[in-house]
Amino acid sequence: MFAEVSLPISSFQTFTYSIPENLKKSLLVGSRVKVPFGARKVSGIIVSLAKKNSFAGNLKSIIDVDDKMPVLSNELWKLVNWISHYYITPIGLAYNTVLPFSLLINHSPRQVWFVRHLAGHKTYEELSPKQNLIFEAIREASSKYIKVSRFKVISSNPILICKALEKKGLVELKKRNQDKGIEETSFKSLKKNIFFNEEQLKVINILKTAIKLGIHSPNLLHGVTGSGKTEIFIEIIKTVKKLGKCSIVLIPEISLTSQIAGRFKQVFGDEMALWHSQLSKSQRAKTWKDINDGTCKIVIGARSAIFSPMKNLGLIIVDEEHDSSYKQDSPSPRYHARDVAIMRSKIEKCTVVLSSATPSLETFYNYKLKKYNYLTLSKRYGDALYPKVRVVDLIDESKETGKYNIIISGLLQEKIEKRLIDNEQVLLIQNRRGFSPTVKCSDCGTVVMCLACKTPLTFHKYGNNFKCHICGFISFKNLENCSECFSQNFSYMGTGTQKVEELIQKTFPNARVARIDHDSSKNSSSTIKVLQEFQDGEIDILLGTQMIAKGLDFPEITLVGIINADLGLHIPDFRSSERTFQLIYQAAGRSGRGKKRGEVVIQTYDKENLVINAASKLNLKDYYNNMLTDRNTLNYPPYSWVSKIEFLGPNVKSVFSLSSRIRNKFFGIYKGLEILGPAPCFKEKVNNKYRFQIILKSLKKYDSNSEKLHSFISKNFIEHKNQITGSNKINIHIDPISMI
Ligand code: ADP
Ligand code: ZN
Ligand code: ZN
Repeated sequence: MFAEVSLPISSFQTFTYSIPENLKKSLLVGSRVKVPFGARKVSGIIVSLAKKNSFAGNLKSIIDVDDKMPVLSNELWKLVNWISHYYITPIGLAYNTVLPFSLLINHSPRQVWFVRHLAGHKTYEELSPKQNLIFEAIREASSKYIKVSRFKVISSNPILICKALEKKGLVELKKRNQDKGIEETSFKSLKKNIFFNEEQLKVINILKTAIKLGIHSPNLLHGVTGSGKTEIFIEIIKTVKKLGKCSIVLIPEISLTSQIAGRFKQVFGDEMALWHSQLSKSQRAKTWKDINDGTCKIVIGARSAIFSPMKNLGLIIVDEEHDSSYKQDSPSPRYHARDVAIMRSKIEKCTVVLSSATPSLETFYNYKLKKYNYLTLSKRYGDALYPKVRVVDLIDESKETGKYNIIISGLLQEKIEKRLIDNEQVLLIQNRRGFSPTVKCSDCGTVVMCLACKTPLTFHKYGNNFKCHICGFISFKNLENCSECFSQNFSYMGTGTQKVEELIQKTFPNARVARIDHDSSKNSSSTIKVLQEFQDGEIDILLGTQMIAKGLDFPEITLVGIINADLGLHIPDFRSSERTFQLIYQAAGRSGRGKKRGEVVIQTYDKENLVINAASKLNLKDYYNNMLTDRNTLNYPPYSWVSKIEFLGPNVKSVFSLSSRIRNKFFGIYKGLEILGPAPCFKEKVNNKYRFQIILKSLKKYDSNSEKLHSFISKNFIEHKNQITGSNKINIHIDPISMI
C-alpha cells in the first residue's frame, strides 16, 4: 500500500510514501501522518491511498500516524477538496485552514501574576531601592490587585522582587487565568418580549419549513435595517435546536458586532460558543473540542467559524453577507466565507440564509436568477420610520461661508446642538482613521511618505506619530524632518477621525464624545466598554469609521452624520460605488430605530453623483438595477468571473519582466476571456515589494461554472508558481474583492 501525502507547503505536488506494515490498518484518507521531507520531519495529510506505486524514485516510508487526532467528517473533507480546487490552493494548505494543527493541542491557559498590598504592616526598612519603589507603587493601589508586569519599567524581572516582598509578609501574590470569559467579549443585552409581525412570521415559516425538510435551501433575507433580522435568526435557531441539529452564524468583525453576539448569548447562554480572533490558543482548542464532540451546537463567529466541526448541521446564517471581511486576502487559501457557506450547505444538505439590508450585487443577481429564495422585510419593526435624509453640498457651503475645508456644515452643527439639548444621541461617520492622511512640508511642499510603500504617511495625534496604513511603519513626529529641506513645519491636510473628534470636542465642549476605529479598538474589550457606555447614555456623540456604520442597534440615536460621503468613491475598483452606497445606506440605518424618527445628514462635494443621490433617497432596487447594467456593459461580476494574478518582488524590473514573460506565453486563450495587464497595481509598492497584476475576466455566457477560467489559470500559472525561485512571488486571487 502507498499513500499520497499533501504537505502544508505552497506546492501543488503531493508526495508518495510507502506504508509500513504496522500502520496499514490505522491509515485513512484524511489521516495526519509524520513523514520525512528532505532533512526534516513534517506533518502531512493523506489525500489518497493506492495499491500501486506510480513514483519512480526512491520511496520513503511514513514514520508515524497521529491516531489521536480526529479525522475530519466526510462533509468537511469534501469542503477541503472544494476549497483546494476552487481557490487553486494546495490541499495541505486548505486542510490546515479548516483544521489548524494548533487546535488539537491542549494548551494550558495563559497565567498572569497579580499582586496586592497586605494592610497593617509596618517595618520595611530592609528593602532595597527597587523593592522599595515597587512596594510603594503596590501600596498606592491600596488593596487592589495589580499586574506584576506593570513593574517591568522598574525591574526586568519584577516577579522576583514581588516574591521577595511576599516573603517579608508585605504583599500577597496571586496567579490568575488570563483567558477572558464570553461575558467579557460580548455585550450585555436586555431581555425583550418578542411579538412577530405578519411579514416576519411569513419569513419565519418559510425558513422553518426548509429547516425541517433538511434539504439544501439557499435563501436571501433582504430586510431593511431595523426590520428584525436578528430576532428572526434567534427564532429559527430555536427550531434547529429542537431538531437536535447545529447552527453556524457568521458575523463580520466580532468586536463591533459584539452587540449581536450579546443578543444571542442572552437567549442561548452556554449552549452557544463564540469564535473570533481574540480567543486565546487554549480557548480555541477547547471551543473546537466542544463543537467537535457535540457539547456545543451553536457557533457565532467571524469568517473562520464556517469551518466549525459541527456534525448534523441544520442551518448556516451569513449576516451582513455583503461585508468584505468575509474574504480572506492572505494567507492562502484566499477564500470567501459566504461562498464557502453556500458550498458547505450544499454538501451538508442544510438551509443557508444570506442576510443583509444591502446585499452584494452578486447575491442580488443570484436572487434575480432565482438561484436563491427571496425573503423580504420591507418595513422597520414597530412604529420606527425610515429616517429623513438631508444632503449638504460642501462646495455651496464653502462659497456661502467663504470657508474652506469644512468638516462640520452649518446644518449638521445645528442638528447636533439640538440633539444635545434634547438628550438624544448622535453617530458621526468619517471613514478614515488618524488625524490627517496627508502631511506636507509648509516650507517646500514635500509630502511625508512611507518609502517602503510609496504612499503618504498619516499623522496620528494620539501618539504624536506618522503611521503607514499599509505596512504599519511608524515614525515619531519629533524625529521627523522634511526629507528635502529639513524643516519641521508641517501642514496637516485632509481629515481623519481624530481631527473630527478634536473639532467636535472644541465645538461642543460639554458633549461627551467617544471614538471607535482600528486605532481605538486595539482590543475588543475597550470597544465593548465604549458601546456599553453609549447604550447607558453616558456618551452623547459616537464617532468612527465604517466600523460603527453597521449592525448597531441603539434606539436613542436620532441623528447620523456622514462627514465626507465621497471618500472611497474614487478608488479605481469596480466595486467602489457599490461599497460607498452600502456604507451610506447602512449608516443611515442606525438612525431613528426607536420611537423617535431619525435624521441623516450626508455631506458631499459631489452632489450630482449617482451613488450619493441613490443612497440619499435610500432607493436600493433602482440603484442596484443600474449597477447591474453597468457591470454587464463592462463585463464585470456578476456577469463574469474575475481573477487577479498578483506579482510581487523587491526589484521592479524583475517583477515586471516575470509578469510580461508569463503573459506572452499564455496558451489556451478562449472565447469570452478578457486579459488586462500586466500593469502596476494601484498600490504599486507595499512593504518594499513592487506589485503588478494581470486581471482575467471570463464571461459567464461562455464559462458558466468558471471551469474554463480555472483550467486556464492552472495551465498558465501553477507551473511558474512552482518554478519561481528567488524573491519574486505570484499570488492567485480567485473572485478578489479588492482590485487595488
Ligand atoms: P435588523 O437585524 O434587521 O437590523 P433587529 O433584529 O436589530 O433588526 O431589530 C430592530 C429592533 O427591533 C431591535 O431592537 C429588535 O429587538 C426589535 N424587534 C424586531 N423584531 C421584533 C419583534 N418581533 N418583537 C419585538 N422586538 C422586535
Ligand atoms: Zn520641506
Ligand atoms: Zn508603508
